[in-house]
Amino acid sequence: MRIPFVAGNWKMNKTVAEARDLVSKMSAQLRQVPNVEKVFCPPFTALPALSAMLEGSDIGLGAQNMHWEEKGAFTGEFAPGMVKEFCNYVIIGHSERRAYFGETDENVNRKLRAALKFDLTPIVCVGETLDQYESGLTSEVVRRQISAGLAGTDSAFGARLVVAYEPVWAIGTGKASSAGNANEVLAQVIRPALSDLFGVETAQTIRILYGGSVTAANASEFFTQPEIDGALVGGASLKADEFIGIIKAAAHTQ
Ligand code: PEP
Repeated sequence: MRIPFVAGNWKMNKTVAEARDLVSKMSAQLRQVPNVEKVFCPPFTALPALSAMLEGSDIGLGAQNMHWEEKGAFTGEFAPGMVKEFCNYVIIGHSERRAYFGETDENVNRKLRAALKFDLTPIVCVGETLDQYESGLTSEVVRRQISAGLAGTDSAFGARLVVAYEPVWAIGTGKASSAGNANEVLAQVIRPALSDLFGVETAQTIRILYGGSVTAANASEFFTQPEIDGALVGGASLKADEFIGIIKAAAHTQ
């Protein structure tokens, strides 16, 4: 039994005051939804304020990125220990980091190991670009991202992982993958790749999310698929009613 997991990736949106306002609009309703692991991933600047607001609640906080080194001359970066001061989760390898900031599978792997060392739950993102999708390369690309990104991870840590399948062509475009297509990638590619790394039993316990234009209106289609355990949500996580609707859909389709 995998507990549904829904995380909101706010990307580079919301000042501290705006972040407080959004969380205060959502937190009372979200607290009333049991059995869904719920996480906000705001910008770094909002983490201290939101961690104070959410203390004692069942809503978690995640960072959108971090460096793998524990400290040093890495201007503009945040170390795992700094993230851990406010968060229990961290998004690793988001396609925007891969596309705009040169994130490689090797760096994803370094960050993943650092996250596990610091007792953070990593949300590792994988997914093919439109070109790769149209060239029939989805399986190859996603399999490589999983095997290289997660290589060398102790299987004892495997169960703590969360993997997000986010086809790049579906992110922020309003053109979600069909739920059946996403489920097939999880069933045919991602869970088998996780089984190769961690064994079948551990792979069955790992939550795999879908991400890419999820809304309150289409969330149930995804959550009723057998392999999809939740969602990583971008745009819709910035709208209180939408994000609450998605979390409620996750609770109803268990
Ligand atoms: C994302 O950025 O991870 C994402 C899924 O974005 P959106 O929901 O806006 O497509």
